[in-house]
Amino acid sequence: MRIDIMTLFPEALDAFMSESIIGRARQSGKVQMHFHNIRDYSQDKHRRVDDTPYGGGMGMLMAAPPIYNCYNAICSRMPEDIKRRVVYMSPGGKTLDHEKVKQLSEYENLIILCGHYEGVDERIIQTIVDEEISIGDYVLTGGELPACVLADCVCRLLPGVLSDKECYEDESFASGLLEYPQYTRPYEFLGMKVPDVLISGNHAKIAEFRYKASYEKTLKVRPDLIQQLNEKKEDDQ
Ligand code: SAM
Repeated sequence: MRIDIMTLFPEALDAFMSESIIGRARQSGKVQMHFHNIRDYSQDKHRRVDDTPYGGGMGMLMAAPPIYNCYNAICSRMPEDIKRRVVYMSPGGKTLDHEKVKQLSEYENLIILCGHYEGVDERIIQTIVDEEISIGDYVLTGGELPACVLADCVCRLLPGVLSDKECYEDESFASGLLEYPQYTRPYEFLGMKVPDVLISGNHAKIAEFRYKASYEKTLKVRPDLIQQLNEKKEDDQ
């Protein structure tokens, strides 16, 4: 997969996405990531990318032309028939979840637009954006952190990025439930011991313990996920 991020802060994103698992995935070519400075595509002599909103109101808005020019420059470097999705990170979008991440990981090219100030001119959303995605019901100052969140969770589903498929099949949400509690050495910490079943060597019992713990945690913290699972079961019958 190739991920292109349109932003006003490409260096900050590049630095963050060069570390750890994603950094290694980039180095080994499992994912290609390119960061584009929208300001480079401004035709204004002061390289301005924002302006006041028509109709008045607080703050500045990112103007359409630099974003549109940046988008066209990115697309011109790729085959026309590439399987592409263009996402605008926005509090006005649908909230990101595991299903959406899986869907997006199927594309060959993901272009992510980071807004800033009060957001972007609506005509950009109408012309180049396939969907708006929010990372939660709160407002950040810019789309850079949301873009990192999206790029990170999509990348970790790409073939070979994690060492073992079980790493992501076992994680929270993959099965529809939150992950069970996990323990590592030392066996005893502040008087709390690891549950006996986990050192029993009985894999069936361990799986049963983990499923029960997963279910109980989900029921307590995210009952909506249990409801979704039940509805899915009813639909499948
Ligand atoms: N005026 C916008 C509104 O009320 O919906 C908020 C703009 S916000 C200050 C600036 C940029 O941050 C947005 O264009 C978007 O790219 C990004 N952003 C802020 N919160 C976000 C969220 N929860 N999810 C995704 N992107 C977000």
